[in-house]
Amino acid sequence: MKSDLTISQEAQLQPIATIADAAGIAAEELIPYGDAKAKVKFSLLKRLDNAKRGKLVLVTAITPTPFGEGKTVTTIGLSQGLKTIGQNVMACIRQPSMGPVFGVKGGAAGGGYSQVAPMEELNLHLTGDIHAVSAAHNLAAAAIDARLFHEQKQGDNFEAKTGMANLQIDPKRIVWGRVVDMNDRTLRRVTIGINREGSTANGIERESGFDITAASELMAILALSKDLKDLRQRVGRCVLAYSIDGKPVTAEDIGVAGAMAAILRDAAQPTLMQTLEGVPTLVHAGPFANIAHGNSSIIADRMALRLADVVVTEGGFGSDMGFEKACNIKARAADKTPDAAVVVATLRGLKANSGKYDLRPGQALPEAIFAPDTEALEAGFANLQWHIENVKRYGIPAVVAINRFPQDTDEELNWLRDQVAALGAEVAISEAFGKGGEGAAELAEKVMSALQTPADFQFLYDVEQGIEAKLTQIARDGYSGDGIELSDDARAEMEKLEALGFGNLPVCMAKSPASISHDPALKGAPSGFTVPVRGLRLCAGAGFIYALTGNVMTMPGLSDKPGYLSIDIDEDGNITGID
Ligand code: ADP
Ligand code: MG
Repeated sequence: MKSDLTISQEAQLQPIATIADAAGIAAEELIPYGDAKAKVKFSLLKRLDNAKRGKLVLVTAITPTPFGEGKTVTTIGLSQGLKTIGQNVMACIRQPSMGPVFGVKGGAAGGGYSQVAPMEELNLHLTGDIHAVSAAHNLAAAAIDARLFHEQKQGDNFEAKTGMANLQIDPKRIVWGRVVDMNDRTLRRVTIGINREGSTANGIERESGFDITAASELMAILALSKDLKDLRQRVGRCVLAYSIDGKPVTAEDIGVAGAMAAILRDAAQPTLMQTLEGVPTLVHAGPFANIAHGNSSIIADRMALRLADVVVTEGGFGSDMGFEKACNIKARAADKTPDAAVVVATLRGLKANSGKYDLRPGQALPEAIFAPDTEALEAGFANLQWHIENVKRYGIPAVVAINRFPQDTDEELNWLRDQVAALGAEVAISEAFGKGGEGAAELAEKVMSALQTPADFQFLYDVEQGIEAKLTQIARDGYSGDGIELSDDARAEMEKLEALGFGNLPVCMAKSPASISHDPALKGAPSGFTVPVRGLRLCAGAGFIYALTGNVMTMPGLSDKPGYLSIDIDEDGNITGID
């Protein structure tokens, strides 16, 4: 089979204005960026305010290997399958970060004959939204350090000189770092404001650090805002630091929120692209799926749901992660809950869930994992069964998509399909990667019939409960564990957050995606574990508290064989080696 990049570059794409027109987007609602991509203006939402909303299909997965089990491939493939069977459909996906593009080989545009195109544009910069997030984030970082510097330098004269309050910022409690869209481990811990002896010309010396831009709270805000007004208010609520007496210092307090939101104005508009088969696709925002909620934007969903009858989107990692957060964080902010779910399973992913393979990010996938192995498949099946039940717990009708890899045998695929059917669940083998929409037509039919059953949606927890009760409920009902164990730090932070009035926010679990539990070594469908909560962090602007259950990487590093080694460009500007 041809490479993803070759397939993408050989595709006959339509002008983006034609795609927009067919989707029902007016010419004056489009800001074209060249031939193949265009921003969609907010005026579309005003025009279609009263239009009927379409159905939202959320694609999730079994507990994935570090290589991904094909949610994006299935999201794009299913949207093409729905188009093939005559549905009016759109897809909404996240924008890939450039860190992983240069770090790990392969992009995030889908793959094979189920891709968003042009894939090299999707994977590199696109329309610059991620850079805008970096700029707005770093403006706030510069602003808080500048405020600290001037408050300290001028002391009692600060208020008279500036007309602004002296906020008494605690230099040890500045919680807003800096960000860059790159994998760069050397920036994880840095010292800033280094001065010559006796001078403060370079600011106040302190230790700080960089995260990758996808981990910025502003990226979560971009994804969770309903409109510009909401975005502006959320930016204002971001806590940048605490004062000496423990009060939060927000972006609004130091007067930088308006400028930050101004930088984000264009980024707040989703970018329209197309799949290889011409399905209109909105690409917008790319928040992490551990310290943030890992779903594409509410603004894009709102637009697509007014334009199309069926909208397909994806939540990061397994259904214990991005799907849980789509239901408990995103759906609350969006006032829209999913109408159906697709659970992606692969033979390789289930074999990995048997515990037979020790797969690590940055290492090659052993080819042996594709060899027929009934024993491993049977052992790993419990994981798929858990994810099907998990989706049903939310009252959402589910369809299992078995994502076929080229190496897979009919025998094993059929065995898996029959096992799933025996559970009473809907299932289809998806050949979206190898055959495009035609290969996902059966899946599309099953999804349409699942949509006939109205969802009886249930949140996992009531946000008005205390933080400890919410964490316990996620550990028990969300992961099938016994409960949680709060560290002393986490308990102290919890008491502080509740005293400050943040106790009623939803909780975002930062945990390993490699297990349903917090422990990546526990494969399949583990039980009998207690989830350790080591710390809690406030994201007042994004509107959640995240809980750290292990070491979470917010700035990846590059491996000894990074993806950038194979990327190049020719004299005509054609990009090679990005897949
Ligand atoms: P996810 O969204 O779940 O992380 P992706 O859809 O991005 O997963 O797929 C992960 C990787 O696996 C991509 O490089 C993709 O091209 C590849 N892949 C996914 N499905 C298939 C398939 N059926 N056959 C071959 N490669 C696939
Ligand atoms: Mg994906």
